[in-house]
Amino acid sequence: MTRAKTQKSRKVAVIGAGIVGVSCAIHLQRLGKQVLLIDRAGPAEGTSHGNAGVLACCSVVPVVTPGILSRVPKMLFNPDGPLFLKWRYMPRLLKFLIPYLKTADAKTVDHIAKHLTPLLVDSVDEHFNVSDGSEAQQWLRKSPYMFVYKNRAAFEADAYSWDLRRKNGFQWEVLEGDAIRQREPAVSADYDCAVILQDHGFVTNPGQYVKDLAATAVAAGVELRITAVHEVVQGDDGATLKTDDGEIDVEAVIIATGAWSSVLSKPHGANVPLETERGYHVILAEPSSQPTMPVMDTTRKFVATPMADGLRLAGVVEFGGLDASPSQGPIDLLMRGVTALIPNFKYKSKVTWMGHRPATADSLPVIGRSPISKSVYFGYGHHHIGLTAGPKTGRLLAEMVAGLQPNIDMHAYRADRYG
Ligand SMILES: Cc1cc2nc3c(=O)[nH]c(=O)nc-3n(C[C@H](O)[C@H](O)[C@H](O)COP(=O)(O)OP(=O)(O)OC[C@H]3O[C@@H](n4cnc5c(N)ncnc54)[C@H](O)[C@@H]3O)c2cc1C
Repeated sequence: MTRAKTQKSRKVAVIGAGIVGVSCAIHLQRLGKQVLLIDRAGPAEGTSHGNAGVLACCSVVPVVTPGILSRVPKMLFNPDGPLFLKWRYMPRLLKFLIPYLKTADAKTVDHIAKHLTPLLVDSVDEHFNVSDGSEAQQWLRKSPYMFVYKNRAAFEADAYSWDLRRKNGFQWEVLEGDAIRQREPAVSADYDCAVILQDHGFVTNPGQYVKDLAATAVAAGVELRITAVHEVVQGDDGATLKTDDGEIDVEAVIIATGAWSSVLSKPHGANVPLETERGYHVILAEPSSQPTMPVMDTTRKFVATPMADGLRLAGVVEFGGLDASPSQGPIDLLMRGVTALIPNFKYKSKVTWMGHRPATADSLPVIGRSPISKSVYFGYGHHHIGLTAGPKTGRLLAEMVAGLQPNIDMHAYRADRYG
């Protein structure tokens, strides 16, 4: 029911209580702001519930890289390819796909990796910082991150990605043969080459982690309201939010609604094309064996992460929009993947999930102030790295709202970069 009365407040509103929005709320509150955190469903009810949990500092390589067009047919039509498409969505997808594929040149990819690096490189510290004093910290683990290949040739075929990581300061160790099993006994001997990167981390219950962060924020004075926001209107002095609960006047607002951000942000000058890259997970309870750290299977492009409630397999890119129901193919792919990755794999029960990665056409998030509405800020579009980069994004945005100068160059993340 819509209430006509406008509720006045001098709070800073954050719309969206995923990892990005909750991190914004915590950092704003630490900077002395009164904060109103709004979500239509509650903390971690969106994509932040179901990711692979990896604090993937080294994930500076976008999905679209040089030569992608020649690889698409294999990714799409090979039953073990990690790309899925709901064909009836194709006409709507095209306006995203064209600018997305245009980023497949080496210069653009260098630019993307260069500007993802500062959001990711110190993310483990950022997670320990944002969760300081919260129950949420129990879910954080410092850990290496392992990528497994069938053989040395497959690793060498991935040289472009590893060179890009090297250029951006990342280092690793290559393991071959039994050395892999000595580090990760669960991995099948069919994988003869692996890369291990130190100083990464993972979250053993990503959904509960964000819920616990939100609970800590509320205990510290952040107001949490469950309602849908339909429109944000810039006023002379602050902004008005039009919600299911009526209108709310606020000092400033951060739009952090993940894959659903276009509708609220476009009227405020955000012109970066945004699409959902649907992804899937399967949680296998009581696995017969599991790795001790997140393991990326580079053959089927999924991650196996040991979590509080079982082994989580997560990955797959499916284009099909925000409304279509989940598909079975990606789940079958993940199940074939775990059987290949871990010998004689058994488990007790299975839970499946599908979620929406907020994918921008140039693989960089939108972070910063609206170019036309002085009380409106954006924090969305984090693709495959939103869990990792969420706390840092929250800190940077809170600093901007408080009038402080962030200590990294924010130009690449501006909302009007598509001219
Ligand atoms: C299968 C899979 C695996 C992944 N693995 C990793 C990983 O290992 N590491 C990593 O860093 N990232 C990973 N990601 C990406 C990561 O999960 C996302 O980038 C991140 O969760 C996005 O967070 P967010 O806060 O921007 O959005 P969300 O978590 O989606 O939050 C947005 C919130 O906005 C709310 N909302 C939307 N519209 C409105 C409205 N109009 N009014 C009020 N509320 C609204 C929603 O209810 C939702 O709670 C993965 C993603 C998937 C799908």
